[in-house]
Amino acid sequence: MLYKYNFEELALLLERGEVRSVDIADSFLKRIQNYDKKINSFITVDEEKLYLQAEESDARRKKGGELSRYDGIPIAVKDNICTKGIKTTCASKILENFIPPYNAAVYEKLKGSGFILLGKTNMDEFAMGSTTEASFFGPSKNPYNTEKVPGGSSGGSAAAVSANLAPAAIGSDTGGSIRQPAAFCGVTGIKPTYGRVSRYGLVAFASSLDQIGTFGNCVDDAALLLSVISGYDKRDSTSIDVEVDFHPEKLRDDLNEIVIGVPDEYFKGVSEDIRNNIEGKLKELEVNGAKIEKISLKYIDYAVPVYYLIATAEASSNLARYDGIRYGYRSDAASTLDELYSKTRSEGFGKEVKRRIMLGTFSLSSGYYDAYYLKALKGRTLIIEDFKKAFSKVDVIITPTTTTTAYNLGEMINDPLQMYMSDILTISANLAGIPGISIPAGLDREGLPIGLQIMGSHFREKKIFGLAAIIEKICEPIHPEI
Ligand code: GLN
Repeated sequence: MLYKYNFEELALLLERGEVRSVDIADSFLKRIQNYDKKINSFITVDEEKLYLQAEESDARRKKGGELSRYDGIPIAVKDNICTKGIKTTCASKILENFIPPYNAAVYEKLKGSGFILLGKTNMDEFAMGSTTEASFFGPSKNPYNTEKVPGGSSGGSAAAVSANLAPAAIGSDTGGSIRQPAAFCGVTGIKPTYGRVSRYGLVAFASSLDQIGTFGNCVDDAALLLSVISGYDKRDSTSIDVEVDFHPEKLRDDLNEIVIGVPDEYFKGVSEDIRNNIEGKLKELEVNGAKIEKISLKYIDYAVPVYYLIATAEASSNLARYDGIRYGYRSDAASTLDELYSKTRSEGFGKEVKRRIMLGTFSLSSGYYDAYYLKALKGRTLIIEDFKKAFSKVDVIITPTTTTTAYNLGEMINDPLQMYMSDILTISANLAGIPGISIPAGLDREGLPIGLQIMGSHFREKKIFGLAAIIEKICEPIHPEI
């Protein structure tokens, strides 16, 4: 039953010598062996390396001396984060056998705090998608109902935490890829402020939007894990040196001091069950002393087109490096250099990735740049200004995370426009670089999880976690049957 404990409980058991790291690893490995055939949340689990790390941790503990409280707890990591000596595939054929020669900054930090790697999780290829159906390794399934998508692109991380196949996980969020799967799978997921966590060693999708964040089964675990991976890193030029002030013990906030902004625009087109649920939570917060204020974020309608122009433009540039020469898949059907490039890329990339590269290349091409990319940058500025104005009046903003709960596998995959539109409530936070969390707020009539999103101003993660911890207490705890 070790898989049911949160970080503090596991740390205590380890500290008292009641369990060893090997026992915890064993317990999660058994869960993975029993259930991951159904959920498909992991791409790589290296049993041997897992036990080796656990034994090393147990030896460190036995030796005594200074030790992190969390030494020996296993964590799942999204497969676009480089792990030295362990495959990092990005769920793509082009990186199917890629073994990084270095560690991402976040993985170094995890190791530095004694956490051990449980496995690498499934995702949409290069983090492009909302369902994991764009994975070369097949989709992950939602633990609440395996006919449904777990969300994406960090769907493997969310599903693994939801199904108790991992105590917590790391993901990345370019337009909602942590918060949307967290909402669909009934777990907590945070995308921190842009610059809070180093992107060194994260395989780039859209560099001005990408940010690494965490998943947990409770707010405290997500906060703790984020505090471990946060911090300045000179190898990422967008990394910012700010205090990490949100360790779980510092999180208890007072509702009487908080002003919550609620933008009408974020409730348009939202399913009735979700709207009722979130409005109910807001009423309850008000009764308990929070001040609720109506605000307007009127540029939300620009968010989807602006995001899909900027993200694809950056992706077309970032993905130029997969050329079959330096690393990754290489086509053996080519006879000239040009053919090698084009065959490698057409055989190695999946459909969605190709679509995005073509869109991005088109919008950046001469003659179109001003009409598309430059226009999108202007739209991005309007969205940033919108939030600035809002945060001069309110501390945080509450909205639903998604417009619907998890939908059927196969339902959206052939309608990319509809899938892009479904990101509408999460992508503005990436465009503005602000932090956002999704916490489970209950179930809809179909028994599927509903996510509540809290956004805050830059580096106000503490406010977000504080409020999230309060809301967590007023929500019915939910868990899948698995
Ligand atoms: N669903 C969005 C997209 O497909 C977001 C992806 C992400 O955050 N990585 O681009």
